[in-house]
Amino acid sequence: MLQPPHQPLQVAAVPSQRAPAREDEGGPWHAEAVCRRDEAGLFFAPSKEPTAARLAREEAAKRVCARCPVMVECREHALLQPEPYGVWGGLTAAERRVVLARRRRREVELRKAAATEPIAQAG
Ligand code: SF4
Repeated sequence: MLQPPHQPLQVAAVPSQRAPAREDEGGPWHAEAVCRRDEAGLFFAPSKEPTAARLAREEAAKRVCARCPVMVECREHALLQPEPYGVWGGLTAAERRVVLARRRRREVELRKAAATEPIAQAG
C-alpha cells in the first residue's frame, strides 16, 4: 500500500485510510510531497487543540504546502476522496468543504443551463 504524503502525529481523529486512492501516470504524486517527513505534526490536529494553536498550526502547514511541487495534485486528491481531516494541498478541511460546495452548485447550474438550451437542429 502506498504511504500517505504526510504522516499524522499526535492525531485525534484521523482515519486509517490515509493512502491516496489514485496515482498519476508518471508515478504517485505524493513521492514528491514536501511533507513526507512531517515530524512537527503540522497537518493534523492533536486532540483538544485550542483554536489559536490550530490556526497557527494550519498556517504553518499551508506555508509548507505553498512550496510543494505537488500541491495541485494533493488538493485534487483531498477534494475527490474527500479527505475529512487535516491540511491537504494548502486547504483545511473546512476550506475544502467550501470548495466542494461551490463545485456542486456550479454543476447544478451547468446542468440547469444545459437542460434549458434549445436543441440544435441537425443539417
Ligand atoms: S501540498 Fe501540502 S499536504 Fe499536499 S503533499 Fe504538498 S506539503 Fe503535503
